[in-house]
Amino acid sequence: MENPIKEVWHGVCALLADRLSTDVFDRWIAIIQPVALDDAILRLSVSNDFYLSWLEENYLPMIEEAVTSVHGQPVEIRIEVRPREADRKQGTGASAGTAAGTPPTTSASRPKPRRRKPAPTTETRKLNPRYTFDNFVVGSSNEFAHAACWAVAREPARAYNPLFLYGRVGLGKTHLIQALGNHAATSHQATVVYMSCEEFVNEYIEALSNKELVNFRKKYRTADILLIDDIHFLSNKDALQEEFFHTFNALFDARKQIVLTSDRPASEIKDLEERLVNRFEWGLVTELEPPNVETREAILRRKANEMEAEISDELLNFMAEHIRSNVRRLEGALVRSVSYASITGITLTPEILEKLLRDAIDVENQEAIITLQQIQRQVADYYDIRVSDILSKRRPASIAFPRQVAMYICRQLTKHSLPDIGNAFEKNHATVLHACRMIENKMKDDSGIRRTVDTLMNKLKSGRR
Ligand code: ADP
Ligand code: MG
Repeated sequence: MENPIKEVWHGVCALLADRLSTDVFDRWIAIIQPVALDDAILRLSVSNDFYLSWLEENYLPMIEEAVTSVHGQPVEIRIEVRPREADRKQGTGASAGTAAGTPPTTSASRPKPRRRKPAPTTETRKLNPRYTFDNFVVGSSNEFAHAACWAVAREPARAYNPLFLYGRVGLGKTHLIQALGNHAATSHQATVVYMSCEEFVNEYIEALSNKELVNFRKKYRTADILLIDDIHFLSNKDALQEEFFHTFNALFDARKQIVLTSDRPASEIKDLEERLVNRFEWGLVTELEPPNVETREAILRRKANEMEAEISDELLNFMAEHIRSNVRRLEGALVRSVSYASITGITLTPEILEKLLRDAIDVENQEAIITLQQIQRQVADYYDIRVSDILSKRRPASIAFPRQVAMYICRQLTKHSLPDIGNAFEKNHATVLHACRMIENKMKDDSGIRRTVDTLMNKLKSGRR
């Protein structure tokens, strides 16, 4: 056969076209491009991650079976996302949701057009090319984090070192840290090592048992840019913290860039050594917050465009209104809705969407219940103290007052009993009661305090921690 992959794929398409409706075939199969077939592995590519996840979840076994039957032997399928032309041109072109004046769209800050290909190290290849600054939608909840990553990507080890990016799951930490890595690898030919903290842990354990610690260390310490995703995973791992401490120092002293992400501030990572907490706070610490409704709509619109899906503003608005706290969930809702419409041929309405997205909406509503810990954190952030101060027995007014405010808000915004609230603050119920009375009185006398407490409560209620 002259071109086995073409032949095989042609046969597979014929088979699948038979089994699937034209609509489904056109939407989900015709968009696949065959890439290579060797050693019983067929690599396919699609243009974006929606297709990837949808195909993997729904059509992989069917495709595998068809390929195996056409090829006459078992074949494993690997689907990948091919980098878009626009994405490869990092930092060029305006992206739909990018706020005016933010870095990648200003021509002065564009990377030089020189596009010599870097010799990718093994680790650089781990970066997913689909995470770019270009396709990251910027709004008020993430513009600071975005600008910080962009600054570091342009001038590694000059702007902020380390850069510590934290925020809850699904808000774009991995997207931003990889966009940074992709940009630095392409425009500075920097050796970028990207790892999830979990991989770092596993490699360390493996190196330890194979007595290859020297190689392990060499790999990390020769990076120009070390990106570790989900560093909160270091919690409770003493030996590893020790190892990471030395890696950090070696890189930092050599003026290499370190970027870390975490699901919470360093000071709140359980059982993280103080010296690491300190170091993580040396450079710039920035938070990704849940996007507001306009940004959520902009994200949906952009993703719908990428999927080439036509969906009305009313429906996008419905999704953006109901799914508030997690961009990954928002993407999932869009894919689900578009696929449902495409497969059934039914025209979507808000009523249908509500049924279709009920699970996601339920999870959102459950998460909207404010926890005592969120309140403690919000109040601590506001008064620029640590949650551990709030929980301590210290009595200076700069700590005792925020502690009382936090207790009062817990009483107002949650259904927890006094003893429960007391427990969460490592105090007894009488202390909570006293705190609530104190704050009530102060609010009566002092409009400044009343405004502060109101602002804090409103922020918590709107999910804007
Ligand atoms: P995290 O690492 O914080 O859990 P991810 O970076 O994995 O979150 O983001 C979840 C998904 O949402 C990814 O597919 C990512 O591309 C997308 N995403 C998050 N924020 C944005 C944004 N502002 N613009 C576009 N896509 C986003
Ligand atoms: Mg992540």
